Amino acid sequence: MGSLHDIQGCLVDLDGTLVRGRQVLPGAHAFLERLGGRFVIVSNDAEHTPLELSRGLKRLGLVAEQHRIVLAGATALDEIARRRPRARIYIMASKSLMSHARDRDLVPVQERPDIVFLGRDRHFSYERLMVAANAVRDGAELVAANPDLVHPGPDGAVVPETGALMAALLACTGPVPYRIIGKPEPALFEAGLALLGLPKRVVLMVGDNPATDGEGARGFGLRYFEVRNGIFPAIAANAPCRDAVDMLAFSA
Ligand SMILES: [Mg+2]
Repeated sequence: MGSLHDIQGCLVDLDGTLVRGRQVLPGAHAFLERLGGRFVIVSNDAEHTPLELSRGLKRLGLVAEQHRIVLAGATALDEIARRRPRARIYIMASKSLMSHARDRDLVPVQERPDIVFLGRDRHFSYERLMVAANAVRDGAELVAANPDLVHPGPDGAVVPETGALMAALLACTGPVPYRIIGKPEPALFEAGLALLGLPKRVVLMVGDNPATDGEGARGFGLRYFEVRNGIFPAIAANAPCRDAVDMLAFSA
């Protein structure tokens, strides 16, 4: 990749880039510190709210305020609430995302939803699958937080993700239109860039997954750096000193 001397801020993936499970990866802490707040974490997480994740990262020693975190599940619900205010929504997701939906004035229902929303639902069941499949067949709009089938767990285990649940649902409904919010789709990049308050040309996406982080970033028009074995781009060391006005953008 070419010179990074003009990069002024980063969108940073979480799993496999900054952390793996409950472990902070080598170099991650120093990288965020060097960025001095000029970053937004952009993750396909379909289970937590930004506030929960911020607290979890703090326990690991990583400081990222909630306004510097964009997560697929919460962003999907934000987007639904903007587009279809007070929609009746059948939610297959965590309790945290259920209350996030209520905070956005969406109306969780068990029957005749306008929208079926799928996140990483640890209580996914035959019954929930039946309700969701029939709601979609009856015309409910289908929205999934991310397309990931699995993510890596401890000791090489696989952790089923939203995309795997989506595959089960689509197996029941047959081909139907649906919307996916997570990477590589552009919605999370857009949300992250808005929080960063910088133009695309001076922002770098930093991640570990060429299919989601890499292709997503390039499709969106961002440069991309792939982290391997904790090797992060040395952009902050070379970046020009920012003046007070620019710093204000990050404290908003
Ligand atoms: Mg990753």
